[in-house]
Amino acid sequence: KFIDELKNGNSNILVAIRVRPLSQKERSLSEFETIRILDNKMIVLLDPEQERDDDLLRKNRLKETNFAFDFVFDQFASQQMIYENTTEFLLEGVLEGYNTTVFCYGATGSGKTFTMIGTQQEIGLMPRALSQLFNYSIQDRFKDTQFKVSYVEIYNENIRDLLTSEDKNLEIREDKNNGIQIAGVIEVDVKTVSEVLALLKVGNKNRSKEATDANKESSRSHAILQLQVESKDKAAGIQEQIIQSKFSLVDLAGSERAANTNNKGQRMIEGANINKSLLVLGNCIQSLSEANEKGIKNPFIPFRNSKLTRLLKDSLGGNCRTVMISNVTPSVSCFEETYNTLVYANRAK
Ligand code: ADP
Ligand code: MG
Repeated sequence: KFIDELKNGNSNILVAIRVRPLSQKERSLSEFETIRILDNKMIVLLDPEQERDDDLLRKNRLKETNFAFDFVFDQFASQQMIYENTTEFLLEGVLEGYNTTVFCYGATGSGKTFTMIGTQQEIGLMPRALSQLFNYSIQDRFKDTQFKVSYVEIYNENIRDLLTSEDKNLEIREDKNNGIQIAGVIEVDVKTVSEVLALLKVGNKNRSKEATDANKESSRSHAILQLQVESKDKAAGIQEQIIQSKFSLVDLAGSERAANTNNKGQRMIEGANINKSLLVLGNCIQSLSEANEKGIKNPFIPFRNSKLTRLLKDSLGGNCRTVMISNVTPSVSCFEETYNTLVYANRAK
């Protein structure tokens, strides 16, 4: 039913939770799982402090918090399942002019990149979606569709082009005809998934990192891959209509970086900026879904309060569809992060 609503434009935000399996290491520590999944919409968070208390267990007075989402995916959910239930049915809409955005939210290590990009054996949402989009463009109706890709990161409220090693701060331009654009960003014509994956590889080498801590690089910035789509819809009638849209895939910064109050110096500035942008993103999505529910025509949405939301303004409000996949770890040692993520996602839905 939800998918139908999304297709019919009655709702334009889908919020899903994906719980990853315990890692080998977590299993070897026989970590208690702080999450129970009731069905494909309901998830229960168990408070570990309470769970450890035998007396409470016996009296069956565990502190449980229930959350409901559009979808809850458990540790056995395949990449294909995630793709089918969150994104696949929106792709035709991309070619019909709907700006569409998929976010992966969550703490570092919760599975954002696995969900978005995946591994060679288990390819993720991005290559699956792109492959489908490129396939559509061979069909008669969407013939002559052109795709351009850009890849940027937002680090400390600066936009950096990941397709060049040049360290330059890019500006956002708002254009009457073309909507939000990044001035001077590199855009590459693409036709195949492997072309995009090659660009992704180049881009990831350029992501913000510190020599001492290189494998943590990806958790400090938001990575935004945008596909600009231009198609001529043959079904539109005698006069061919040019349709433009954007398909944005966003691997957000690790949400735990926002909460860590022990940070000092550079890490503190980073944390504050991540906190700000994730908070503003949450506020914008909440305001948008509220306005949608209540049928408010021109709602005020605080897009201007962060670079991320300024950049995605025309991909979130209006003729848009948004998918937020929040990733969590079931292990009790991540209780705090999991709790924060569920609360965040719960506000967005
Ligand atoms: P993040 O990008 O949020 O920091 P990753 O996507 O890198 O997290 O995931 C951390 C680790 O867990 C990786 O080794 C990844 O392959 C693994 N992982 C995450 N989600 C799953 C899953 N659903 N199934 C199997 N392995 C997963
Ligand atoms: Mg990652």
